[in-house]
Amino acid sequence: MIAITGGAGYIGGHLTDTLIDEGYDVMIIDDLSSGTYVHPKAELKRFDLRGGNDLKLDGVDVIYHLAANPDVRTSMMDSIEHFDRDVKATFNLLEIARKNDVKTVIFASSSTVYGESRIPTPEWAPIKPISNYGLFKVMGEDMLRFYSNNYGIRGISVRYANVTGGRVSHGVVKDFIEKLRRDPSKLEILGNGKQRKSYIYIEDAVDSLIFLESYYKGKYDEFNVGNEDWITVNEIAQIIEEEMKLKPAHVYKDELEGRGWKGDVRFMLLDCMKITSLGWRPRLTSSDAVRLATRDLIHGYRK
Ligand code: NAD
Repeated sequence: MIAITGGAGYIGGHLTDTLIDEGYDVMIIDDLSSGTYVHPKAELKRFDLRGGNDLKLDGVDVIYHLAANPDVRTSMMDSIEHFDRDVKATFNLLEIARKNDVKTVIFASSSTVYGESRIPTPEWAPIKPISNYGLFKVMGEDMLRFYSNNYGIRGISVRYANVTGGRVSHGVVKDFIEKLRRDPSKLEILGNGKQRKSYIYIEDAVDSLIFLESYYKGKYDEFNVGNEDWITVNEIAQIIEEEMKLKPAHVYKDELEGRGWKGDVRFMLLDCMKITSLGWRPRLTSSDAVRLATRDLIHGYRK
């Protein structure tokens, strides 16, 4: 049995679909605070990981830990809410794993742990987050490494670039489409539009988790998972406008030296040699990921 915390959310929901398609039994651990998608063949344990760690898991060998509040922007305002969902929840999850003799925990971390770093950013680059979200992911990684060293749990921290695609719960692609649906004549862009980042398509993101669970044989490690290319916010706007057949005026809200919000890392491109040397690489580029995500959100996800 495989357990997925946050299995009713965006990435967790897709991971559940894929694992069930591959014949696995899946248990979703989720408080349904933001997630709404519960695969009919999955077992749902409705549980708030902030509240404690008394949860019996029979026969679970692997946990994918995806439950969190994934919004970098709000982490700078609602820091306690984020601490509880990102740090306290991760501590409780690790206690649940320890008490139930779970062998492997795979943690959805983030490129935000690096802050504004060298480009492309390898895993050994200094850890200097500039958002609470990034800080709390560092704390999650540290706890997983500690539990791995001290309790023998195999741990994998996956430092994702931006993940996009059908059913995405937040982020620039969803935000632009919603704004253009409300008012097709103008598009508000947070920052100067020149922020440039790497994106991966949801199917690649899910595939990388399953790949690492199978092919990483060590005790604990961190892996960057992103694309070789990157794309500006202005280029994302252009792709979405092409797909929606609109020509809106751009209105820039540029008050933070080009950043979209406090804590926004303006330039992000990960060096993914560590995972590619194990034999994995994404199928879609950043721009193809954004284009397909736009189509998924406009026309509905194909699956
Ligand atoms: P999401 O918000 O769609 O899903 C999160 C899920 O966690 C939801 O179903 C929610 O109900 C659940 N949850 C929240 N708090 C909980 C709690 N206390 N107890 C139990 N369940 C709880 O987010 P997502 O985009 O699917 O992100 C999944 C993971 O990947 C998160 O850890 C996020 O930080 C990380 N991540 C996401 C991206 C991205 O681009 N989406 C990038 C890097 C890392």
